[in-house]
Amino acid sequence: MSHILLEKAKTLEPRNPNKSTGVFGGKSSGILNWNDIAYPHWYKMYKRLIGNYWQADEVDMTSDVREFKNLSEAEKDAYLKIIGLLSTLDAPQTRTALLISLYATDPSIQSIMAVIAQQEAVHNESYSYVLSSVVSLGEQNTSFQLGRTDDVLLKRNDAIMKHYNAFVEEPTIENILKTLVYTVLLEGMFFYSGFAFFYNLARHNKMVGTSTMVSYINRDELEHGRFISELFRATLGENPEYNTEEFTTWVYEAFTESVELEIEWSTYVLEGLEGIDLVEMSGYIKYRANKMLRMMGLSEIYPEYVENPMKWIRAYVDSFDDTKTDFFEQKSRQYTKTSELNGFDDL
Ligand code: ZN
Ligand code: ZN
Repeated sequence: MSHILLEKAKTLEPRNPNKSTGVFGGKSSGILNWNDIAYPHWYKMYKRLIGNYWQADEVDMTSDVREFKNLSEAEKDAYLKIIGLLSTLDAPQTRTALLISLYATDPSIQSIMAVIAQQEAVHNESYSYVLSSVVSLGEQNTSFQLGRTDDVLLKRNDAIMKHYNAFVEEPTIENILKTLVYTVLLEGMFFYSGFAFFYNLARHNKMVGTSTMVSYINRDELEHGRFISELFRATLGENPEYNTEEFTTWVYEAFTESVELEIEWSTYVLEGLEGIDLVEMSGYIKYRANKMLRMMGLSEIYPEYVENPMKWIRAYVDSFDDTKTDFFEQKSRQYTKTSELNGFDDL
């Protein structure tokens, strides 16, 4: 069963119905009427995603250019390593979003994935943009090489790479489900110790431009994680033969292993930095893992971290909420037209 290869969805097939019969391996004509889709609430998710629109060069980097020189050597090193990590995660994500779209047999998923892929492309551009503001081309390239050269980073990305590539080579429902699990981990957990590093700089009034950009990326990733969790549940719901104890155990193991690697990585890059408490950080990582498991309809695996142990970071998540003062007060806020739908209670 698990080795039946899925075919790519037909681009246009008038003999099929407009309303899709399945998320993967189903039938649909390719014509999309948002008012008649298989999962009606996905329209709201699409609107929220598109409401997040922003562009990298709208973020003013003038003060960051000045401040970067005054960072400690450890802060500079962490800054470049974390940008290296984020770029290693966001580049494959552009492609994975497109790949999911190729096999999705529901045009609403294809449209949502097109928006997600566009946002991942902007995230990638933004790393080039901030680095070009603060360091030389040589240092930029060193940072972008880390995903190929840094042992801790390679080890940390090994499982995600394996599962993402397995989906390319063998597009089965099982490999799609596993890719969705790693996508949820990526969107909802892998980025977050990196995000926290930049928010920590911002709360010490350092590198506020970079942190503003990171907050836009963060806002996008929260929405991506939310949709991918939905897609995971829909895929499992439509393919109940995969909803087994064995597969659930696999998911929990993927989460546990990822949490351990994430803690190892964050200790490696963040050790000794002012304002970062590594014990608190490992609790924050476990809290994020719990959050994503719950979104996927599974149980928390770290009952002692149901609450966010990193209290100070909430000030930054509140800045996503239009009803409060925008912490960063940058330009791209004006694009958000769907603020009543935003519910960023879960950074
Ligand atoms: Zn991204
Ligand atoms: Zn994303």
